[in-house]
Amino acid sequence: MKRALFPGSFDPLTLGHYDIIKRGLTVFDEIIVAIGINASKSYMFSLEERQGFIEKAFADEPHIKVMTYTGLTVDFCKSIGVAFILRGLRNPADFEFEKAIAHTNRDLAPIETVFLLTSAQTSYISSSIVRDVIKNNGDYTKLVPNSVRVQ
Ligand code: ADP
Repeated sequence: MKRALFPGSFDPLTLGHYDIIKRGLTVFDEIIVAIGINASKSYMFSLEERQGFIEKAFADEPHIKVMTYTGLTVDFCKSIGVAFILRGLRNPADFEFEKAIAHTNRDLAPIETVFLLTSAQTSYISSSIVRDVIKNNGDYTKLVPNSVRVQ
């Protein structure tokens, strides 16, 4: 069974993430959405909220799991026996950033990173834009799955 890890902060999950995860299932048998815990970073949504948003969005999808991890992504992959990392690409800036991470990861462990190009409809969406819209009381609901709601 081919399994891939889709790592990120998911603060919060967006339609861009959702698209990549769903399309990832055309390539992999199982996708593990992995929320990286970084103690020195501050988030808009708590870990429980972020995890809940993802679990609810994929409640009907048995081939998508949600996990949390600390430390290096490749170490977490090794610890759960996953050989692939899935990432999304939106633009040249993403490419440059992702290229450096993927090369570093390959130096650290024999784990391949597989990239999917964003869908045209979601290419402009980022968690930071969603957070900005929320902070300024805008309608963020068009940018996120229905499971993502501000209490
Ligand atoms: P991080 O906080 O580590 O940047 P993100 O949650 O922002 O993590 O993103 C996780 C992954 O989702 C990255 O591979 C990123 O490129 C991808 N991604 C984010 N938004 C989109 C989008 N709109 N379309 C495609 N991929 C996306």
